[in-house]
Amino acid sequence: MSESKQIVFNKIQRPFIISGPCSAETEQQVLQTAKELKEIGGVNLFRAGIWKPRTRPDSFEGVGVIGLPWLQKVKEEYGFKVTTEVANARHVDLCMKHGIDVLWIGARSTVNPFVVQEIAEALKGTSIPVMVKNPINPDLALWIGAVERLQKVGLTNLAVIHRGFSNLSEKYYRNTPQWQIAIEFISHYPEIPIICDPSHICGRRDILFDVAQKAMDLGYLGLMIESHIDPDNAWSDSAQQIKPPKLNSFLHELVYRDTHADDAVIQNELVRLRDKIDQIDDAIIQLIVERMLIAKDIGVYKKAHNMTIFQAKRWAAILKRMHILAEKGGLSGDFITQYIKAIHDESIDQQERVMKDEN
Ligand code: PEP
Ligand code: MN
Repeated sequence: MSESKQIVFNKIQRPFIISGPCSAETEQQVLQTAKELKEIGGVNLFRAGIWKPRTRPDSFEGVGVIGLPWLQKVKEEYGFKVTTEVANARHVDLCMKHGIDVLWIGARSTVNPFVVQEIAEALKGTSIPVMVKNPINPDLALWIGAVERLQKVGLTNLAVIHRGFSNLSEKYYRNTPQWQIAIEFISHYPEIPIICDPSHICGRRDILFDVAQKAMDLGYLGLMIESHIDPDNAWSDSAQQIKPPKLNSFLHELVYRDTHADDAVIQNELVRLRDKIDQIDDAIIQLIVERMLIAKDIGVYKKAHNMTIFQAKRWAAILKRMHILAEKGGLSGDFITQYIKAIHDESIDQQERVMKDEN
């Protein structure tokens, strides 16, 4: 491949779309996915994991080196540039021998400076483009450190991939985006393009779009989205992969706004503030859930003592106390009446269910 045709991250146009299966499973699956992605158009780089870092042993750990010729066939038959994950020096050497165009370092490798250093040394003297996923844990310094190790061996054609951060208590996302960390990365390295990986952030198909759109609104270079010809039967990450035709409609629905430096600054500030609001909303819901659990306990107690659910005096006292607090905080009386009434109604409903033995 001639040097001029190599992907140069800070020269390509947005949106730069990377797609393909989480894992290469069989030659037929890889080639059929590539065929369908070629047909829909709009995909700039074909991905497939050859070596898969899995959290637990005995999961499918990738087909290994036999999958590399499949990626070569994807290049030959469909003209795609191809990329895969490398996690050690041997992977790097094998990829170089098989003409893999772009490499990426996975989230479980970015966390480990020994691993990144080994990969960096194996890459020394090459000019291959490399993408660095954020580390699993929300540690900006580790992400920056990985990029620095690659820069120190002379690599200049770099991009980073934002794939979210693991969070044990998170239910909505598989990996919480924590946009503010990505934004800090961008501020630190404005010249390194950032790509969003909604698949690993979301872990499920139904919410991919909003994450992808947000990344586009923030001026990210592009997206890495996993696609599979038969997602439900995928050997890894089946809940988050989409079929190529779905990717096609998805890419057409996304709005790609022009980004200017000023927009990015304004957007970044908005994201920072909205993240704070989201955190507060999460905490409010959590507190309301806890409040309802206590209301239910009270329901059990009232039932045992043959008391009525609605206690007028208690309600009047709550209302009065809330109004005093609200006024101090500059909230309107109407708002606080509606708010506390909604909460109180829900508590009563929950207690009624306890009385009727519904739960
Ligand atoms: C992947 O891209 O399939 C992958 C394993 O990603 P991550 O390193 O982000 O978990
Ligand atoms: Mn995956």
